[in-house]
Amino acid sequence: MIHADADIAIVGSGFGGSVAALRAAEAGLRTVVFERGRRLDLQSERERRDVLLTRYTNGPAQLHSMSGLLALTGNALGGGSQIYTAVKMPPKPEIFDHHWPGDINWQTIQPWYERVREVIQPKTVDQPFDRQAKLESIATALAGRVEPLPLAWSPPPKPQQPNIAAVDLHGQWQAWQAGGGKRPLTQTYLKRAEEEGAEFRCEAEVTFIEAIPSGYRVHYQSRSDGAIIADSVRAEKVVITAGTLNTLRLLFRCRDAADGLPHLSPALGRHFFTNGDMGAALWRGAGLPKTDTGPLVTAWVDLWQHERMFVMETGRFPMVNASDRAPWLFGIMGDPPIDGAIAFEKGRLRHRFKREPICTFHRRVATLMKIAAQAIESRALVLPASVFNRRPVTVHPLGGARMANGPHEGVIDSHQQVFGYSGLYVLDGAAIPRQLGSPPSMTIAACAERAMAKMLEQGH
Ligand SMILES: Cc1cc2nc3c(=O)[nH]c(=O)nc-3n(C[C@H](O)[C@H](O)[C@H](O)COP(=O)(O)OP(=O)(O)OC[C@H]3O[C@@H](n4cnc5c(N)ncnc54)[C@H](O)[C@@H]3O)c2cc1C
Repeated sequence: MIHADADIAIVGSGFGGSVAALRAAEAGLRTVVFERGRRLDLQSERERRDVLLTRYTNGPAQLHSMSGLLALTGNALGGGSQIYTAVKMPPKPEIFDHHWPGDINWQTIQPWYERVREVIQPKTVDQPFDRQAKLESIATALAGRVEPLPLAWSPPPKPQQPNIAAVDLHGQWQAWQAGGGKRPLTQTYLKRAEEEGAEFRCEAEVTFIEAIPSGYRVHYQSRSDGAIIADSVRAEKVVITAGTLNTLRLLFRCRDAADGLPHLSPALGRHFFTNGDMGAALWRGAGLPKTDTGPLVTAWVDLWQHERMFVMETGRFPMVNASDRAPWLFGIMGDPPIDGAIAFEKGRLRHRFKREPICTFHRRVATLMKIAAQAIESRALVLPASVFNRRPVTVHPLGGARMANGPHEGVIDSHQQVFGYSGLYVLDGAAIPRQLGSPPSMTIAACAERAMAKMLEQGH
């Protein structure tokens, strides 16, 4: 059955999708956003119960476990902003020196970061916490520099739950979402988009997109009273923002498994990046910081100059039910020379990458974390090499449908329109043409702002 038409259909409501929804709705377009996840109600019992997206539950996090990769991403209205640590940092300027289309560079992208800041209004954490002082000791030992990080949050009026609590891991995480002052996209871009008339269809998963003479037909499945209902919408323009791995799966399916978008570039899947992600912890030591009531992340150690890496603290976490034994967690991001590819085989994604750069990166992180541990009299814990080198782990998957100067190098042009398909866009992490080495949400949103301005300027 063909449902009502839309001027623009948006697949996914993360950083790319939220920007697209607000700008399209503001311009008066009939805007429909399809979101596979739920509209979260953080007070509800279901929030505590359903953590992951599985066959039986539609929780706010999706674990992608595939050959050569383990990734965690968001699955709710607001996408990754519902589960992320809310750091809003652009990458280092030299990241824009290579691999971007000719008209994007550090200077030309600045106004679009500014547009995102106007809506999200990131702020650093002013309160001095013990972990910031400890981070200074680590920075000195690593010959780096502590940098406070701007977050999408507003300090809560009174101290909320402590950063560590005798509750389960998910309960602790939800405390940060609900009471810690974090502002997911449902409080910024999406709130405004809804006020401007955008329609959100939650628990609706887009399964297939096909080019038709008047635009595109977007097929989706939604759940109603336990039954799965298949339906479709015709739209003049379609913006795909399902998050890097879901976008790649959808595009592969439309190109290879069914004939919806048969002329997609052969470069689909190439130049996929894990953003130099790795996890580590410091534990068992007198020098660990005191627990506090602040946000999960406050600052990182900038090691860019000599390591092209950041070591970001992400608070002490209740892996065990006792605060004095909680490890202090770290997220490491960087720009190692790792350039992989996502392939689509027998309906499944797999990650192909060269082993050696991953092994070298792992060894370097392990060495640095050992030095960090000595600096505050604790012990370092990093993911075992045997696991990480076979299956890199990421919360920042990027690329695979990247912006490029032509269809032999990438899938979309510099304004993120798909080569060969007028009116079809990719505005999420899959569009980013290279590793950023830092948290990507600001850059995904800034590029989406730029692309939407061009789309709307051309008339609709
Ligand atoms: C634990 C964690 C911490 C992080 N911390 C930070 C941080 O501090 N700073 C930062 O910048 N980044 C952080 N990130 C990464 C950040 O969340 C992502 O880079 C960002 O959300 C990606 O935006 P996106 O627009 O590509 O898609 P996403 O935000 O992933 O949104 C995609 C949306 O599309 C929906 N969807 C998927 N498939 C379909 C379909 N077929 N039909 C309809 N809807 C669909 C999904 O449910 C999802 O809601 C973190 C990520 C994680 C997991």
